[in-house]
Amino acid sequence: MYEVPHYINGKKTSIKTRELVLYNPATGDSIGCLQVANQQIVESAVIAAKTAFSAWSTKPAAQRAKILFRYKMLLDANKQKLAEWITQEHGKTNQEALGSIQRGIDVVEFSCGITQHLKGGYADEIGSGIDSYSMHQPLGVCVGITPFNFPAMIALWLFPIAIACGNTFILKPSEKDPSCALLLAELAKEAGVPDGVVNVLQGDQETVDALLNHPDIKAISFIGSSQVAKKVQQQATAQHKRVQAFGGTKNHCIVMPDADMNEAASALVTSAYDCAGERCMAISIIVAVGDAVADQLIAIMKPLIEHLKIGPGNQADTNMGPLVTKAHWQRVISYIDAGKKEGAHLVIDGSQYKPPNHENGFFMGACLFDQVKPGMQIYQDEIFGPVLSIVRVPDFDSALQLINQHDYGNGTAIFTRDGFTARTFAEKVQVGMVGINVPVPVPVAQFSFGGWKQSLFSDMGMYGSEAIRFYTKLKTVTQRWFPRR
Ligand code: NAD
Repeated sequence: MYEVPHYINGKKTSIKTRELVLYNPATGDSIGCLQVANQQIVESAVIAAKTAFSAWSTKPAAQRAKILFRYKMLLDANKQKLAEWITQEHGKTNQEALGSIQRGIDVVEFSCGITQHLKGGYADEIGSGIDSYSMHQPLGVCVGITPFNFPAMIALWLFPIAIACGNTFILKPSEKDPSCALLLAELAKEAGVPDGVVNVLQGDQETVDALLNHPDIKAISFIGSSQVAKKVQQQATAQHKRVQAFGGTKNHCIVMPDADMNEAASALVTSAYDCAGERCMAISIIVAVGDAVADQLIAIMKPLIEHLKIGPGNQADTNMGPLVTKAHWQRVISYIDAGKKEGAHLVIDGSQYKPPNHENGFFMGACLFDQVKPGMQIYQDEIFGPVLSIVRVPDFDSALQLINQHDYGNGTAIFTRDGFTARTFAEKVQVGMVGINVPVPVPVAQFSFGGWKQSLFSDMGMYGSEAIRFYTKLKTVTQRWFPRR
């Protein structure tokens, strides 16, 4: 049993408050604990971050970038260690963990170019003898509240850019897999990030509420379920904080009759079941245009799904690890029951599968529903597990309408060989991130990540140019100088 401490002002701190238990999802065993940061502990982290701000924000951006370069190198060197924490506390496979860490490091690399991004604009002679220039100034203490599903990647999508811009940061990772965040902060110190610039608070809703209510916190980045995202956005904006709150998802993929069915089927299996479906960019609904497409896809996908090796994430041949907690496992199972009751056809039922010698782990096998209809709960709600549904529609227009009517709008994709259909889809679909023959269209670091509708309660995305805008205040100076007389 280990305890995951807070990280405040460059030091690990643990104060007895309210204890939460950590589990290894592959065994079901309790393996550790954390103490929930209360208002007093939040206060000490805010003081540390506020104190560090004046020196850090005035350090030349090029010097901050040098530290981030060192941080990137240290992350590269510690990838495997981070991945092991992720597998132990979250359950995903070592390969999945390593892949996600790399996507985080890509954003650190982007942050290394901060001098270019903070350049601002300049125009001379906007009037007679008058020039104008703009600059991006840091906000102050920023907060990141992250979900359980990508403990390293999402944290790395937030604080490296925030601190590159000159802010200081408090990270509140998920209470389900908090160890990675601690290691990320320790590595930042090793890279040369001064004490107080990156802090980590362990906790849950109590900690988040204390952060949301703190007057010295200037910006909140939240990633999690829509219900909490909406609350965070409302509470933070009511206190004039800058906020970006990313919510839940339900990603559709249209498969047209002219698609390469083998490519589409194998891409969909990967998209739906990798990370046990606990991905905000996983495809969870296939919209098959025509019965023949649905039948063909099922015929190709069935053997692929049945061959997925389910087991602990630290075994090299595992394709799919366990779900994160027992409560989440029960929730996903309740959706399988609901789908059956509502009349959907459960083509593959992996719900009760447990790998040998892991009967107490939070495992389940892949599930595939066919004949899912828009009114059903399994169609409407985010399940966030290895459950893929097929909805059959007669034509492209009905497929597009279905997606546009759904509450969520994070990611979507289409499989087709027809450029005009693909282009129409990209233009008309009411979703933030779109794939064309690409099933998990997560934008690379130089673009920005963000959904629409109930998937994002605010306007600005994570990383890329949107993040520079989010983590800075724009100031525009108009100047005129008179000759000495
Ligand atoms: P969650 O909403 O339960 O928790 C997210 C964070 O909020 C955690 O740090 C948690 O401690 C905190 N929290 C939980 N309840 C709270 C409350 N009532 N008040 C204040 N804070 C609270 O989400 P999760 O289960 O950790 O993560 C899964 C969810 O995250 C899914 O809905 C998934 O779609 C979403 N997600 C979205 C994106 C995106 O970019 N849109 C990315 C990753 C995950």
